[in-house]
Formats: sequence, structure tokens, C-alpha cells
Amino acid sequence: MDKREGNGIPQSLQQHLHQLGEQFAERLRQELPQLAQQAQQLPEASDEQRRQLLRALRDQLHRLAGSAGTFGFDTLGQQARELEQQAELWLERQLRQQQDLDAFIAALQQLGSQSAGTTSQGEPQTALQPAARTDVDTRLIYILEDEIAVGESMRLTLSNFGYQAEHFSTIAALDAALLLQLPDALIVDVNLASEDCSGLDYAARLQQRLEAPLPLLVLTEQNDFATQLQAVRAGAQGFFAKPVDIPQLESRLERCFAQQQGEPYRVLIVDDDLDLASRYSLVLRGAGMLVEVLRDPAQIFEHLRDFNPEVMLLDVNMPDCTGPELAQIIRCNDDWLRIPIIYLSAETDIAKQMSALIKAGDDFVTKPISDNALVAAVFSRAQRARLLSDALSRDSLTGLLKHGDIKEQVAIELERALRSGARASVVMLDIDHFKRVNDEHGHAAGDNVIRALANLLRQRLRRVDSLGRYGGEEFLAVLPDCTPQQARMILDEIRERFAELRFIADGGEFSCSLSAGIAGTDVHSNAEQLRERADKALYAAKHGGRNQVQIADD
Ligand code: GH3
Ligand code: MG
Ligand code: MG
Repeated sequence: MDKREGNGIPQSLQQHLHQLGEQFAERLRQELPQLAQQAQQLPEASDEQRRQLLRALRDQLHRLAGSAGTFGFDTLGQQARELEQQAELWLERQLRQQQDLDAFIAALQQLGSQSAGTTSQGEPQTALQPAARTDVDTRLIYILEDEIAVGESMRLTLSNFGYQAEHFSTIAALDAALLLQLPDALIVDVNLASEDCSGLDYAARLQQRLEAPLPLLVLTEQNDFATQLQAVRAGAQGFFAKPVDIPQLESRLERCFAQQQGEPYRVLIVDDDLDLASRYSLVLRGAGMLVEVLRDPAQIFEHLRDFNPEVMLLDVNMPDCTGPELAQIIRCNDDWLRIPIIYLSAETDIAKQMSALIKAGDDFVTKPISDNALVAAVFSRAQRARLLSDALSRDSLTGLLKHGDIKEQVAIELERALRSGARASVVMLDIDHFKRVNDEHGHAAGDNVIRALANLLRQRLRRVDSLGRYGGEEFLAVLPDCTPQQARMILDEIRERFAELRFIADGGEFSCSLSAGIAGTDVHSNAEQLRERADKALYAAKHGGRNQVQIADD
């Protein structure tokens, strides 16, 4: 359930930030007096010692200048910055003036004395608010990986997929970033050579501090059961052995997000007792579901069609038509087979419950029921119903629409475009020399390429665009409100990103390219003709040397 407030900032994050603010204030209380103490040693020190002390002070002031502002201690941050610059100057041109030194020491001591008043109740409150997400569509991914080359290449590839990825090579750097903003997912390497704890220990501790755990993916060299168990305990949803197959990792990220961001579940309640129905409806709405209440069973089919519920709650005893009778009527119609039917009744006689279930219906929940039990009962059925329904209507390899559904979507969008007068574009897309991929790297590697392209397209296209797997390595997309020229720019960018992806298979590393053909809607073509024109343009792109996007002639 959604723990975010109206402004999109989870409460858990606010609490987390507050806690980290307190920790920082505590650190200042120790660090600032130390700075002052070190400054006091300056006058007595030999030239060499003085240089060393100044260097240490400069570095410490530098860190302080960077972090204090982040926590809202703005003045302190500025003072630290000025003193840092002064220390730097002295390091460059040997320190001469005793007066200046005295002033420097006095300033540092003054800084040190501020520590008494540093509580997070004071100055920093406003700065503890995390930066607001402006573009909700871009997922932010943090990567903790001490091997710089590995981390950087992962960051680049994920950026190509349309994520905003950031790489950190130390826990300290990641911690600092977490203060500013929590990511949508975290990728952590288990082995961090220069840290005194493992990536998993760190991730487990971090998850405990958060109210809602972050989707976590784990990278490791030792793919053994014990490590996997530890990873699962830290909340991992994916486990990847090095060298990491990044398209596969990206697939997993997509799955995590799909589970998270799903539309609210739709629940239909049929009950002649309106008070009770209102109460259930309130509870379920409170849990983020969409609820409709129906009093008159005779209107069931209108409601099923218009509301398209994912779960039904049926009262058993209703005056004109009982719950089991209504359930039987619904079950006579194959269109509504996927909807779980739960009876809600005060009937505690097991024999009567069973007889209702044998007629039709899937489960029996007895009144009175606690709010939590009701939410759990409905939520779990809705979740499973949606999973099944997706599995049936979506292509299993890519999760995209299947052949028939995407063709239907093209027809729908064409009609819409003709009505509104806006242009839409239809795109046919095909991976180049895909047979070679299968031949040289195996069918599984080929599947991975198909999945990667599907994910890339999903990431790069807009929500209003429809996308389907037309055939083996062929995709069909329809982009409403988009001219062929605009579509070409988008597709060209996708084409370049795709060519940059590196795949790993037994036969080594490889990459692929794609070709695409685009046709724009016009008043003369029907949906099939549009698709054929896009297909012709695709053929021209293949003939023109592949790895290119062509627009169909009008
Ligand atoms: P071109 O550049 O002309 O498109 O060359 P191509 O090799 O891609 O040619 P073609 O479209 O004829 O080959 C498609 C191949 O894709 C043939 C088939 O074995 C393979 N294929 C189809 N579906 C799948 C699938 O689901 N997984 C894998 N791994 N391969 C598939
Ligand atoms: Mg092909
Ligand atoms: Mg093909």
C-alpha cells in the first residue's frame, strides 16, 4: 500500500532524514571542538608540522563545507568554506604573518564553540526536506560498486535504458546521496574491498532504517546459497553473478517497479445492506482500492462491463436473488471467469458455506470481519487475479501486448486520430541479423536481446504509446499525437541506445542493431494498410543497410 503523502514524499523518508540530521549534529558536536584544538597547535609547530596540520585542517574544512549546507547549517558551511580557502592560501605561500595566524585560530575556535548549539531542532529543518522529484517517470537507481569500471559501465547502460542511474564507489558517498534523495531502487555489490562491512550488511542496516524497504538487487562473485539467503534477508529481489548480464538485471528492475506502481485494484461489492457495504467500501478505499457498491443484483452485467472489477464481494442473503444464485449467473459467462468471487456473510454454518461454494464462488469470509482481515482477503485475491490476467493477455517473454492486441490497438488509435484530427504514427521494428545472434550465442542469449529491446522501448516510449510484440523479434508500436518526423527522432534515439547495449553470452560479448519503418495516419489508410506501409518502410531500412529508421512514402 502507498505510504506516500500527497506531495510524493514518503513519511518514512522524512523520518529517516530527520534521524540522519540528528546524527550529523552529533558529529558536529565532536568534530568542531577537535578543529579548534588542532588550530591551537599551529603556533608551536615546526614548519613541516605546520604544513601537515594545515593540510589536515584544510581537508576537514572542505568536507564540512560540503556537508554542513546539505544539512541546513548554511552559515557554518560558508564559514568552513572561507577558512578552507585561507588554509589553502597559506599552504601555497608559506605562512608569514603571526597576526593572520591568530585570526585564523580565533575563527576556528569560534567555529568550535558553535557546536554547543548544534541541534537539528534549529537551523537545518527546511534543508532536511529531500529534493522533490520533478520527473516522476524517470526512475532513480543508486549503484554501490567499488570496482569503478564495473559500476560506471552499469551506470551507463542503465542510463541508456532511460533510468537516472548514479554510481558510488564508497558507502560514505552513497550515504551522502541518500540524505538528499532516496532512490527508487538500490543495486549493491556484496564484496566491498575497502569497507569494513559487506555490501549486504550495509544494505540490511539501511533497509531497517527505512519504513518501506527499497527494491534491492545484489551483485556478487560467490553465487552460493548462504549468500543468497543473506541477500533475501536483506530484502533482495534479485541476485546477479558477475560479470552481470545487465539486460537481465534491467528486466528484474522493471518487474520490481511494475509490482510497485500498479493501478489500484477494482472491487465490486454486492450487498443489499447499504450501511454495511459503505463501511466495507470505506475500509477498502482507505487501503487504496477503487470500490463500487451494487444494491440491485439485476444490474450486475452493466457493472461488470463498465467497472471491470478484479474482485467481487457478494452478500449471501439478499431478498430477490441470493449470492450463490448471482455467482452462478456470473459463472455462466466466460468473460468474467477471471474474477474471484468472495462471499461475505454472517453465515457460520460450515455446511451452508460449503453448499454455497459448491454452486459457485471461490471463498467465504464471515462477518463480522476486522478491517485488516478484509483488506488482506481482498488484496491477496486481487493481486493474484491481476497476475493471472496479465499472464494471459501479455507476451510471456517481454510482458508486452500480444500480436492480436497490439493490432487492435493500432485500429483504436487510428480511429481516435481521425476523430481528433491529430496525427499518429505506426512503427514496425525488427532486430538486424537476429538469426546470427541465435546461431553464435544461443537461443537464450537471443531471448535476452528481445527482452532488452522490449524494456528499452517501454522505458523510452510515453505512457500513451502502445507497444506489442508482433512476432519473434519484431515489434509494433503506435504513437498517438506524434508525426512520423517526431516518431523518427524518438526511434533514432532508441536505435542508438540499443546499439550501445552490450550483451554477455558464452560466446563472449556482443551487441545488436535494429531497423524501423514508420507510417503516419491519413484519411485514406485503414489500420492494416497503415501497418503494411510501416512494414514496407522497414523493408526499405533493411535494404538501405539496416541499423536505420525510414519513413513510409505518402
Ligand atoms: P534481418 O536483419 O533481415 O531481420 O535478419 P534476421 O536474421 O533477423 O532475419 P529473420 O527476421 O528472418 O530472423 C528472425 C529469427 O528470429 C528467426 C528465429 O529463429 C528467431 N526467433 C524468432 N523468435 C524468437 C524468440 O522468441 N527467441 C529467439 N531467441 N529467437 C527467435
Ligand atoms: Mg530480424
Ligand atoms: Mg524478423
